[in-house]
Amino acid sequence: MLKKFLPKDYVKSIYEITPELLKERNIKGIITDLDNTLVEWDRPLATPKLTQWFKNMSDHGIHVVIVSNNNEKRVHAFAEPLGIRYIYKAQKPIGKAFRKALAMMDLQKEETVVIGDQLLTDILGGNRSGFHTILVVPVAQTDGWMTRINRSIERKLLKWFDKKGLLHWEGSSSGK
Ligand SMILES: [Mg+2]
Repeated sequence: MLKKFLPKDYVKSIYEITPELLKERNIKGIITDLDNTLVEWDRPLATPKLTQWFKNMSDHGIHVVIVSNNNEKRVHAFAEPLGIRYIYKAQKPIGKAFRKALAMMDLQKEETVVIGDQLLTDILGGNRSGFHTILVVPVAQTDGWMTRINRSIERKLLKWFDKKGLLHWEGSSSGK
């Protein structure tokens, strides 16, 4: 049961995820979380480095859709200047938004990865829907109020995975 929370891969940041690595696995699309995955939850716009990451994906023909549980105002203001498609109020871990994102990209789930910083929403949702999931270390140490509750459960899961040798997570032993 707890394995549903276990990501298939984990990286320190999205910048470790490159078009070359994705192509090796025949991945053509990315469904990514926004807050604390791409930028800090309270940073309104993309950084130049992130803008370049999106451009690099696009240059290699990798589709990207931002799937966020946050509201329309936040997600639109962030994604629109980048020209990246998005789904807001996604209600992850419910799978509906992931299916919608697949349809937007016209891809199969086997060709798509789900990236996010939270086990209880991004990873659980992606796993249950049958995607290859990639956990990233949260960009910021702080969270919006909704997320704080999930984080306490998440810390217990990460510790358990660490103990079982399933996932050595550098954030798993840190406080907060
Ligand atoms: Mg997040």
